[in-house]
Amino acid sequence: MSKGIVYLVGAGPGDPGLMTVKGRDCLRLAEVVVYDYLSNPVFLDDAPAAAERIYVGKSKGRHYAPQDEINALLVEKARAGKIVVRLKGGDPYVFGRGGEEAQYLHRHKIPFEVVPGITAAFAAAAYAGIPLTHRDYTTSLGLVTGHEDPAKKMSSLDWEKLATGVGTLVFYMGMANLRVIAEQLMAHGRAPETPVAIIRWATTPRQETVVATLADVVVKAREAKIKPPAVILVGEVVNLRDELRWFDNRPLFGKRVMVTRAAAQAREFAALLTALGAEAVCCPTIETVAPADWTDLDVAIAGLPRTDYLILTSANAVRFFFARLTELGQGVRALAGVKIVAVGPKTAGAIEERGIYADLMPSDYRAEGVVELLIEKGVKGSRVLYPKANLARDLIPSKLRAAGALVSDPVAYRTIVPEGDGVRIRAMLAAGELDVVTFASSSAIDNFMKMVGDEAPHLLDRVAVASIGPLTTKTALRQGISVAVEPEQATVDDMLAALIAYYQTRP
Ligand code: SAH
Repeated sequence: MSKGIVYLVGAGPGDPGLMTVKGRDCLRLAEVVVYDYLSNPVFLDDAPAAAERIYVGKSKGRHYAPQDEINALLVEKARAGKIVVRLKGGDPYVFGRGGEEAQYLHRHKIPFEVVPGITAAFAAAAYAGIPLTHRDYTTSLGLVTGHEDPAKKMSSLDWEKLATGVGTLVFYMGMANLRVIAEQLMAHGRAPETPVAIIRWATTPRQETVVATLADVVVKAREAKIKPPAVILVGEVVNLRDELRWFDNRPLFGKRVMVTRAAAQAREFAALLTALGAEAVCCPTIETVAPADWTDLDVAIAGLPRTDYLILTSANAVRFFFARLTELGQGVRALAGVKIVAVGPKTAGAIEERGIYADLMPSDYRAEGVVELLIEKGVKGSRVLYPKANLARDLIPSKLRAAGALVSDPVAYRTIVPEGDGVRIRAMLAAGELDVVTFASSSAIDNFMKMVGDEAPHLLDRVAVASIGPLTTKTALRQGISVAVEPEQATVDDMLAALIAYYQTRP
């Protein structure tokens, strides 16, 4: 029996956290993903790398793939025995033509399942601070298409019943017909002072909301230059937004903040920024790559049976060392007789992830601490392996050798400046796409200059530069970069607090 099946999956409104667990599970199984414009591209990362990804949405110079073609494609892939995920924005059965696709599959005897998604109306309401129903204001809700078939010109809507028979109304695809919607509702008995909210790009860092009344919504929408994709929410519940707003009034909401730290540390920092409402744009100014030549490390790995101590001083060292061990066809068992020294808890945690524990850890989480700990143990005549970064200090090998140890210190990884990304950074700065660029070290500034080039100070004039502290600021000034934000204490948390304070004084 063929295993071909189609899952019609709702991706939700845009925030990747708003897809269902079941939807994500389907994506993980997918062999073919057929997706639209509105589903955020990050969802595709959940599908296996080998899965075929087929885009059927709108693109420049080309309209949507015709519905017939999409239907035929789903049938063809399922008949070929594939697990097909048809990923749609919001909910597949709300103005998404999911119903037509399911009917077509049914007629062609293709098994299918439907995984609901959070539809734009629900998401926009929640993220704009507007309960769709509320006992004091309304007990009914209508979802309406504002666009309909252009040929039909929205004439098939029963305006009278909509205007007076339903409490809260949410129009999808209605921006082109905003004037008609407002006029018809008023003409059919809805009060002109009825509040309206237009919510664009709901749940994303680009979310925008315009609040008006039926009487002035056309003017206010024009003034605010608000465009699709947006939902138009009509009803008394809109007034609750003043009290219940929570998403778009977070301190850094809507700010695009570039993080220049290395990928590993950037993730944590980016999460903090996101929680404050900002959109973090990660552009590491430092990257770790494999050594130019593995010979030294391979020789050291071959010598593991005669090794007493393995010293690991960073999560990167752990990552590259264990990756090479695996590549050489050896598992953690090769470390059976070796005592593993981790410089600190982060490194120890990284070792643990490989299914093995560190035996020793100094109380001072630095190279100095490692040296002291091992000298205390007595390393005279011991064989020590220290896989290191190309630019690592010589402290550990020199001190341990002086204490009589036989130290092998092969390069396990190199740190480099990813100069190629400079083009991308230059383009973002030139296009005014960033609000803030953050620097958490002097080397981040120096590397940034190498990547972006001499125009960097000039391009950075368009953004607020945040520096973590006086040393970093000094380097910035030396490079001709002016700094707008600097905290009193040189920590990431304090830099964020300073950034919030900066935006409190200017919107
Ligand atoms: N199936 C989708 C709707 C597709 S129709 C769903 O259930 O949400 C496309 C319309 O959905 C857009 O014109 C807009 O009105 C609305 N929409 C989709 N995503 C949106 C978002 N993030 N913010 C505001 N409106 C959105």
